[in-house]
Amino acid sequence: MKIGIVGYKGRMGKEIKDLFEEKNHEFVWGYDKDGEYFQETPQIIIDFSLPEVFEKTEDYVKKFNVPLIIGTTGLQDEQIEALKALAKDVPVVQSYNFSIGIQLFLKMVDFLKDKIDGWDIEIVETHHRFKKDKPSGTAKMIKESLDKDVPISSLRLGNVAGDHVLYMANLGEVLSISHRALSRRAFAEGVLKSAEFVTNKKNGYFTFTDVI
Ligand code: NAD
Repeated sequence: MKIGIVGYKGRMGKEIKDLFEEKNHEFVWGYDKDGEYFQETPQIIIDFSLPEVFEKTEDYVKKFNVPLIIGTTGLQDEQIEALKALAKDVPVVQSYNFSIGIQLFLKMVDFLKDKIDGWDIEIVETHHRFKKDKPSGTAKMIKESLDKDVPISSLRLGNVAGDHVLYMANLGEVLSISHRALSRRAFAEGVLKSAEFVTNKKNGYFTFTDVI
């Protein structure tokens, strides 16, 4: 497939471009801080940039009338609503985490959440020093799955691709679930799966949970 990437010069943008090209897909369009790269109209747009770029992405998806996979974190509620409106015309996959491991993590949280009433519960997330948003979108997803108002601690250290730990403790024991992304490749693989998932869809709003 012929892909377009918003944020194609960024860490995730480069990882996604490399993976898709390894799998014989073609990078034909991009948008970044210094403007547009145009070789051909893309068949799909992938956005890993910043929330302030969102309106540009929205305009390009409408202009090209193509599916959108969006992994940008820190989106405002209105931007999520705008994505749902866009999904009436094209397929949209939105997730704050495109790794398989975090999907399994969320399933474990769903299993545990009613069994830990009265326990102390805290989420700790660690990311590289360049990450702009805090707390991470994934930590927010874990908190949402717990359905409890729990504290989130954010560490910004070196080049960590993404660590999340959920701690649960009563007076006698500590239980924890942890996930570590060893590289950005894990997310890029999820984006590729999502791109394959939308090829036969006409429209609709999906999360990565729907994809796997
Ligand atoms: P990055 O800073 O390396 O890349 C962001 C890119 O966006 C850069 O190339 C930058 O030049 C571009 N950009 C910034 N402002 C712009 C503007 N005004 N117009 C056009 N382009 C602009 O960041 P990253 O580490 O690649 O992460 C990108 C996003 O993806 C972040 O929101 C991050 O949290 C998110 N992320 C999501 C997942 C996931 O699985 N959903 C995984 C990793 C990262």
